[in-house]
Amino acid sequence: MKTTRLAAAALALVVMAAGCTSPATGAGTGRLSVVVAFYPLQYVVEQIGGDQVSVTNLTKPGVEPHDLELTAKQVASVAFADLVFYEKGFQAAVDSAVEEQKPKRVIDAATIVPLRTTPGFSGEGTSPSTSALDPHTWLDPQTMEKYAVAVAQQLSLARPETAATFQQRADALVQQLTTLDTDFSTGLATCQRTVFVTSHAAFGYLAERYGLEQVGITGLTPDAEPTPSHLAAVQKIAQQKGVTTIFSETLASPALADALAKDLKLKTDVLDPLEGITSASRGTDYPSVMRSNLSALRTAGGCQ
Ligand SMILES: [Zn+2]
Repeated sequence: MKTTRLAAAALALVVMAAGCTSPATGAGTGRLSVVVAFYPLQYVVEQIGGDQVSVTNLTKPGVEPHDLELTAKQVASVAFADLVFYEKGFQAAVDSAVEEQKPKRVIDAATIVPLRTTPGFSGEGTSPSTSALDPHTWLDPQTMEKYAVAVAQQLSLARPETAATFQQRADALVQQLTTLDTDFSTGLATCQRTVFVTSHAAFGYLAERYGLEQVGITGLTPDAEPTPSHLAAVQKIAQQKGVTTIFSETLASPALADALAKDLKLKTDVLDPLEGITSASRGTDYPSVMRSNLSALRTAGGCQ
């Protein structure tokens, strides 16, 4: 709360200093300035907006988006954006900035696909945060299709003269995501093992969609410290289910996953929750990293 008040005060100074002209990134360039909360939303906006938009991602590359804090400049970018695309209930600082700054056009991803609790493996002691809402909706490609439709709609309202182009690009993106979804369905249809063990429990929506069962070493956030009894339960499931691989991720420490794999003499691999793209990512964008995820899941699961 303290951060928010300070940010608001700083914003007032920015506005006064700027003589009330817009400091948004798109100002003066003829582009629509779009502020997005984290990477997958950026991907959708860039694909559809193309050179008609200037996109600011509040979660910088390499920064883990859970518990994001905003600078005064970032709060100002929310205030002056032509469109803000975020997910209410995921990043408290972004929720506050949107609520307080009231940007003229907003897409809340949680109104398109409501957040829900996602099932983990149903074994005892394996779900440390079952009652919390799962924010990781973007790991289901069909959700991304719905985001594409909403973004095309809002960009078209903001700039009606380019509506046909936005619609065309949205159609192409939906087609690409449909292919990705089909490849996941086909690729994960026949597997020797459907249980997978991963770093933080980001893959609930993905697991649900493709008939897999996720066991998270930590809960819905990467920094949640698992209890010894939870770790013991994860170990037990891994052994019972013949798990071959313990997955870690690119933006959070692999220490827990590595230790678990070492104890159980299992392989480690990366399953990327796509919370940001860096040079360490196995791909350069949403579809390519998702395809790396598919390949890793297929290998770990012994899929045909
Ligand atoms: Zn996450």
